[in-house]
Amino acid sequence: MDRRKVLSGAGLLATAGVTGAALVGLSQTRSKPGANNAGNASDTLASPAIVTGKRTLKLVTTWPKNFPGLGMTPERIAERVTQMTDGTLTVKVLAAGEFVGAFEAFDAVSTGAADMYHGAEYYWQGKSKAFNFFTTVPFGMTTLEHQAWVNFGGGQALWDELSGQFNIRAFMSGNTGNQMGGWFNKEINTLEDFKGLKMRMPGLGGEVLRRMGASAIALPGGEIYSSLQSGAIDATEWVGPWNDLAFGFYEITKYYYYPGFHEPGAQLAFGINLDVWNSLTQQQQVIVQQACAAENNWSASEFKYQDTKALKTLIEDHGVQMRTFSDEILMEMERQSSLVVKETGEGDELSRRIYESYIAARRSGMEIAAYNYEPYLRARRLRNNF
Ligand code: CA
Repeated sequence: MDRRKVLSGAGLLATAGVTGAALVGLSQTRSKPGANNAGNASDTLASPAIVTGKRTLKLVTTWPKNFPGLGMTPERIAERVTQMTDGTLTVKVLAAGEFVGAFEAFDAVSTGAADMYHGAEYYWQGKSKAFNFFTTVPFGMTTLEHQAWVNFGGGQALWDELSGQFNIRAFMSGNTGNQMGGWFNKEINTLEDFKGLKMRMPGLGGEVLRRMGASAIALPGGEIYSSLQSGAIDATEWVGPWNDLAFGFYEITKYYYYPGFHEPGAQLAFGINLDVWNSLTQQQQVIVQQACAAENNWSASEFKYQDTKALKTLIEDHGVQMRTFSDEILMEMERQSSLVVKETGEGDELSRRIYESYIAARRSGMEIAAYNYEPYLRARRLRNNF
């Protein structure tokens, strides 16, 4: 079966205007998806809602179809929800551009044109800058610190409050782990080297670079390689070794810098239209939530494993030169980051509460790390013998 053809079928597009609430009782069999969905949808809308019926839900993503890691996470969530509900919920994944563009996923779910999205919350910072805190911020929390905050430190309740303003409920579902500092076509030795540097870095990290004198540019992933090649940019960040190797940046630039100050653990998110969420049975809600939780763990460990392998390949097979930012540079990055992040929390009353909660959790994370994680990592390297 041609999956792409099915996914982009006219039937799915025809239901674009159906609200989440109206989808209650949308009864479709899985045997011929896309065959005549437009007709089915009209029939359903004319009938009283049947909550116990089978439903097909649209999951739109901000990633290219099946992109390693990022794009596979929504595929796995969809497959597991469909399997665990015995098909009472059939989740159809529509990658960026197949139903709506990457950055339109949020509006599609908010209005009910789509039922669910998978992406990164900082893509919605045009709605509220506070969304940045639910992905990551420069010099923010590491993966496990972030997840501790969301699960136990009040983060989820604040997130629900923020997303609720847009008729959305969101859950953690995937994490890239520590990202890298990026690829540079020359060595970066002093703060002066950032003056006039043209670097691809979106979001808050880009703002930090701008304040350090660089020209930060937000390019979609697919345009980075050609921009490096043409000299339109001198440097770029993307994700980490696994995803960066896939794009082949090592073919153009030799210096791979660390650490990635700007994304210390990018949290990925699954969002669902609140009306659709409320229309699910309790069992279906638990299944959706647990599928996200399982994927959250799966994704983080996959990035860890694949990054390790890819870094070896970059260094040993492609001669990539590893470089660290100097302490002088890191301290200036941290100084500017603290100002940019503070401003991010100054939007409204809710943004301030989110900022304060995030910063308090970050401080706690640093306090305990000073006694367990950091000394252990140092101890493990003392002899570096096995
Ligand atoms: Ca990145």
